[in-house]
Amino acid sequence: MIALSLAEIAAVVGGQTHDIPDPSVQVTGPVVRDSREVEPGSLFAAFVGEHVDGHDFAAAVVEAGAVAVLASRPVGVPAIVVADVQTALGALARHVVARLGAILVALTGSAGKTSTKDLLAQVLRNKAPTVFTPGSLNNEIGLPLTALSATEETKFLVLEMGARGIGHIRYLTGLTPPKVGLVLNVGTAHIGEFGGREQIAQAKGELVEALPAAADGGTAVLNADDPLVRAMASRTKAKVILFGESGEADVRAENVRLTDSGQPSFRLHTPSGASDVTMRLYGEHHVSNALAAAAVAHELGMSAEEIAIALSEAGTLSRWRMEVTERPDGVTIVNDAYNANPESMRAALRALAAMGKGRRTWAVLGKMAELGDEALAEHDAVGRLAVRLNVSKLVAVGGREASWLQLGAYNEGSWGEESVHVSDAQAAVDLVRSELRPGDVVLVKASRSVGLESVATALLETG
Ligand code: ATP
Ligand code: MG
Repeated sequence: MIALSLAEIAAVVGGQTHDIPDPSVQVTGPVVRDSREVEPGSLFAAFVGEHVDGHDFAAAVVEAGAVAVLASRPVGVPAIVVADVQTALGALARHVVARLGAILVALTGSAGKTSTKDLLAQVLRNKAPTVFTPGSLNNEIGLPLTALSATEETKFLVLEMGARGIGHIRYLTGLTPPKVGLVLNVGTAHIGEFGGREQIAQAKGELVEALPAAADGGTAVLNADDPLVRAMASRTKAKVILFGESGEADVRAENVRLTDSGQPSFRLHTPSGASDVTMRLYGEHHVSNALAAAAVAHELGMSAEEIAIALSEAGTLSRWRMEVTERPDGVTIVNDAYNANPESMRAALRALAAMGKGRRTWAVLGKMAELGDEALAEHDAVGRLAVRLNVSKLVAVGGREASWLQLGAYNEGSWGEESVHVSDAQAAVDLVRSELRPGDVVLVKASRSVGLESVATALLETG
């Protein structure tokens, strides 16, 4: 973070200093909430969690080099005491980003935020120092902590913003007001909490409402292929840039295909030129993510060629998203167990089919959550697609959604032994292990709540 004195921080957050002998001492290290991440010069934010109270670590973090604790009560070591630590952190973040010279880019959407954020960061950092959300820390605590990790050198600050309800994005954009806002898609994630897709669109669109006017440099980057996102153009004063496959998109992909190894390749078109991309990431759903990243990067001054090179070099930065690992015996494990929706299920199966040409392919799949009335039809369709893509064996894991997957396969291709329904992850591991042969390719994918990464991890062990 940029160096700030404890006196200055206390003033910004409206806090009282306690046990601070010298308020001119500066915080120079990262602001953290996890005591294990404290470095000399850190400010430690003490949160009261369900199981742990950060205040209990006050002495330990000061011992480890923290300059002070941001706390909601005096703790016997140097502390800035505030009524609410989360609010204080937000105020500090707002103060700091206003002083930075960095361009703030915020992105949201139902699926692909982290993948796109990682792609975008890998593209932008070829141009200038870039700070971005680590992992998926996209909420009211993770966002200010990320913003506070920026320094004077930071040119681009890329922030993932998550929403579980109306008003969440508005709150986050209030802390770190973006100049560029990117909305990926409106799907069904958290649909139960929201009430419907219209409400999800309402909530995500708060991002573009928060942008400065076009004359002040505000830019909204919107998915032309998603009608609910496309319609957000009417909710912003910012300049609108569209990405997608649609002909009206400013940044689009042509000749999209999967290479034999299952990686998407396409010709990237931007308003100022075109260039070829072959991604290292697997799954055609990443084409949309790549176009989104390209549209932002182009807006921030990068050429089609620079963007294409960076997109072709970008790897996975976050775990369990189409993570491809080769075992010594030639078995390939594709761990996409982080999450699943119908679109990414289809993309993952198609990547599996491309990767598995001439090899035996396994799809170990669990349920896609939050589909409401569509659940039966969507699971059935995935089961059928596995048959049409000639997957060698479908292992459906879990409860009734798994039986729908299996039934889809049965109905599409009269699949008997080719599709199996097992009750849990361990049973899936046992089954696959007993039949796995060198050279096979295994895809593991389900919604987050199923926790199928344990299957992928177990299968990575040979023997
Ligand atoms: P979270 O809300 O958990 O932070 P996220 O929006 O950051 O999720 P990612 O972590 O990038 O999304 O991807 C989560 C899952 O969504 C991936 O495993 C993949 O299955 C799927 N996914 C990624 N990109 C897309 C996309 N463009 N369209 C549909 N599904 C996608
Ligand atoms: Mg995420």
